[in-house]
Amino acid sequence: MTDTLGHLLAVQDLDTSLAQLQHRRDALPETSGLRAVEAELGALEAQQADAAGRRAALGATQQALEEQIAGITERRDGIEKRMYAATGTSGRDLQAMNDEVRHLTERRADLEEQELEAMLAQDPVDAELSALSRQMAPLQAQADELRAAVAEQVLQIDAEMAAASGTRAAEAALLPTALSDRYESLRARLKGTGAARLIKNRCDGCHLELSSVEVEKIRALPPGQSATCEQCGRILVPV
Ligand SMILES: [Zn+2]
Repeated sequence: MTDTLGHLLAVQDLDTSLAQLQHRRDALPETSGLRAVEAELGALEAQQADAAGRRAALGATQQALEEQIAGITERRDGIEKRMYAATGTSGRDLQAMNDEVRHLTERRADLEEQELEAMLAQDPVDAELSALSRQMAPLQAQADELRAAVAEQVLQIDAEMAAASGTRAAEAALLPTALSDRYESLRARLKGTGAARLIKNRCDGCHLELSSVEVEKIRALPPGQSATCEQCGRILVPV
């Protein structure tokens, strides 16, 4: 094996490592774990949003009732003030005011009952919201842990890839252009492997055996001259 073909194999080995690192980066078990936890959290968040919506509606109902009650109280107080201050008011008018006060008192009691119902209806929703929070807390912690683990591994893989890319660039710079071009086009076409070793009588690119005549012919080539695997078309380097 000459230096040139040695550099070619080094480039191929680094390309294989880079592809493996990229695959590892894309298929981290923590990433799929994180997706599962996020899906679970997403379902709980939807339930939480639904409960929060119901809670807000009940709160708004309570608020609206409180405002109505305050209005009625104000009206009733006004009438009562006029009644107590009344001098020269006819008995009929007083009676009408009295009826109005009674009517407003009844109406207010009715609204207060509705308000109480709205308040009581909030309790189970609040309990539901607390239960959801309790359920979500450990999942959120788990998601945070997984996110940190993914980030750490990605950082490490990226560092390994940067180092491998640097070495690859240095090795590739030592290759003659024609060989480099041939390697790149084969690699693009043949699942990332453009150069293969001839190990005994087997091409480690396609794993097929070559005839002994072919093997002898390749091994007899002058140093530095590359051969081609007849089966897969890859650059074959005898080792
Ligand atoms: Zn082959």
